[in-house]
Amino acid sequence: MNAPHVMVPMVEADHVSRRFVRRLNYAERIAGWLGARAAEHVVHAVDDVSLTIHRGEVLGLVGESGCGKSTLGRLLAGIGAPSSGSIRTIEKTAEPSALSSAPDGVRAGRPTGRPTARHRLATQMIFQDPLSSLNPRKRVRDIIGEAPLVHGFVERKHLDAYVVDVMERVGLNPEFRDRFPHQFSGGQRQRIGIGRALAVKPDFLICDESIAALDVSIQAQIINLFVQLRRDLGLTYLFISHDLGVVEHISDRVAIMYLGRIVETAPTVELFAHPQHPYTIALLAQVPRLSNRKRQFESIQGEVPSPLAPPDGCHFHPRCPHATQRCRTERPLLRSSGRAHEVACHLVEVQ
Ligand code: SF4
Repeated sequence: MNAPHVMVPMVEADHVSRRFVRRLNYAERIAGWLGARAAEHVVHAVDDVSLTIHRGEVLGLVGESGCGKSTLGRLLAGIGAPSSGSIRTIEKTAEPSALSSAPDGVRAGRPTGRPTARHRLATQMIFQDPLSSLNPRKRVRDIIGEAPLVHGFVERKHLDAYVVDVMERVGLNPEFRDRFPHQFSGGQRQRIGIGRALAVKPDFLICDESIAALDVSIQAQIINLFVQLRRDLGLTYLFISHDLGVVEHISDRVAIMYLGRIVETAPTVELFAHPQHPYTIALLAQVPRLSNRKRQFESIQGEVPSPLAPPDGCHFHPRCPHATQRCRTERPLLRSSGRAHEVACHLVEVQ
């Protein structure tokens, strides 16, 4: 996709962390009272992430299963609050605010762990499994039409025409608006999910593995739909995926996540041409390409460590072929290495 000409921030995550605590059960508490060691289990799903998403861009967020990318997406969508840090949304206004020092047409939102109603509607999520994310007892006309009616985007007398318009925009035949989700194919159900999101006129779509459950030919159709919607409606996307090939195709910029942390970000072309973090290099080496069709693919050494007990220092050090003593004790910070490229690695030269 083509990148926006002017980079205006839309969502800013500032040192965001999300921890999930599993409380001790009754037996463990009794064992604790009797002197046994019994600590609560803490999952560090997102660990001190700072990230800016610009208006009109597509940011690809990549990482292995369990790295925290879906949790980060949910936090940005306002589903749950960070354990620490803040997420700031910068809303677009019809009238530039005279009080604002932000660029024209944009005003600063308040730092918040509890998003406003406007933020909730302006940011919509599209999930991996369209069937489980749609109410099986509702007809498509209600799935798509309910939210815009409740939130005043359309009057009841115009609702049918509104639903027809949304269905046509996402490539669904409006004649099927009285059908239930199970009467559609997987690709059509994903279009219903996209239509439901678009019906409340969002600015920002968070696509969480939204094409992973579809056949390859259907994936291409849905990606093309995302591209067309961006062109027509000026949408911003966070595209969460483990599939680097798809992310390369659709994204302007890519962020690589490992065990709750962002380890590298760069414009897509730059990242694929000059990956710098050892984890990114290892991930890219596993992407099949015509140019390397004869080589043997090697998986990354070792297992992903448990987020219950992430390694000290650089989380990647138990699997990194270049790890030094410093990597085992000191966390590398995300720093600029030139050409809008940021890397969290002690070995990469900082600019
Ligand atoms: Fe490897 Fe050290 Fe860089 Fe981490 S900081 S990726 S362990 S070289």
